Amino acid sequence: MTMRLPNFEFVAPASVDEAARLLSDPGRSSLIVGGGTDLFPKMKRRQAVPTTLVSLSGVDEMRGVRVDAAGNCVIGASTLLADLATSEVVPSAVATAAASIASPQIRNTATVGGNLCLDTRCNYIDMPETWREASGHCLKDGGETCWVAPQGDRCWAINSSDLAPVAIALGGSVRLMSTRGERLVPVGDLYGDDGIDCHTMAADEILVELLIPSDGGRATYRKLRRRGSIDFPLLGVAAAGRFDPDGICLEVRIVIGAVTPAPVRATEAEEFLIGQRLTEEVIVQAADIASGPVRPQDNTDTGSRYRKWMIPVFVGRALRDLVADDG
Ligand SMILES: Cc1cc2nc3c(=O)[nH]c(=O)nc-3n(C[C@H](O)[C@H](O)[C@H](O)COP(=O)(O)OP(=O)(O)OC[C@H]3O[C@@H](n4cnc5c(N)ncnc54)[C@H](O)[C@@H]3O)c2cc1C
Repeated sequence: MTMRLPNFEFVAPASVDEAARLLSDPGRSSLIVGGGTDLFPKMKRRQAVPTTLVSLSGVDEMRGVRVDAAGNCVIGASTLLADLATSEVVPSAVATAAASIASPQIRNTATVGGNLCLDTRCNYIDMPETWREASGHCLKDGGETCWVAPQGDRCWAINSSDLAPVAIALGGSVRLMSTRGERLVPVGDLYGDDGIDCHTMAADEILVELLIPSDGGRATYRKLRRRGSIDFPLLGVAAAGRFDPDGICLEVRIVIGAVTPAPVRATEAEEFLIGQRLTEEVIVQAADIASGPVRPQDNTDTGSRYRKWMIPVFVGRALRDLVADDG
């Protein structure tokens, strides 16, 4: 079946201010487009039918990576994932996560902003319009039932961004701009724990840049996916930590992505690890604690039980990465 894009107006302003003005125009129903690698398929499936696409490709100041005076890594939202993956300026966990996204062709088009603002995904919504009509529209699609958990009253579509867990683990924040001004938001506060209301930013806000603090500590990203060459994560675990010279954990963040509508911090496991040396026994205990509260649903191409089993495995691998050089 051929799926064609609906008609739309395409505008490519040269400044963030002009983009913000276009997005706030009540006469248009506008969406931002970065590389379009997620948005265009959604438009073909009629999950989104904007009248106007505001491209950020003409805004030069939103491209590239630099280090600011405080030593923070500042990543422009229009930076291509391919450039992030090979950057020697960003923390290696960020480059690793970027390199694991989709395929080379997609990484050459897709942007950091688009990845952090990715809509939630689910087997029941990422389908052609005719399929969704035939099977009955789900909650996220304007229907009355979530087909993943029909007894419930909420949407379980998943946040599948690979950059989000790493950015949260490293204490990153994003700069958002609109005609009302700008604000700095921790990446962890960007997501709502609901598959429909999955972003806390307003529809007319532009994610301009991602800031990663210089003191984020050692970090890693571990991703589970079916095919290493292209697939979305079935599970992604990011961890970042700081240790004293004796290997005692001073601070740690563990973030589990791609199993729930928002990436989740494993705060109980983090608290358990503070003040401890990460021995094999401690790592296994922390991985079990991290996995406890997380409940994957049956809404990707592998079952929820498999993803649940894999959570402690991948948290354990991530924690071992943090202390690998300490022997
Ligand atoms: C085959 C395939 C495999 C994929 N695999 C992965 C994967 O492994 N991991 C993964 O994370 N993703 C994956 N993706 C999804 C997608 O390609 C990436 O997430 C990509 O980074 C999206 O970036 P983009 O610039 O193309 O976003 P777009 O498609 O342009 O936009 C995505 C969303 O973000 C919004 N947006 C874009 N830029 C901004 C901004 N600056 N401010 C505010 N809102 C903005 C858009 O309005 C839209 O809602 C895959 C996609 C495909 C087709």
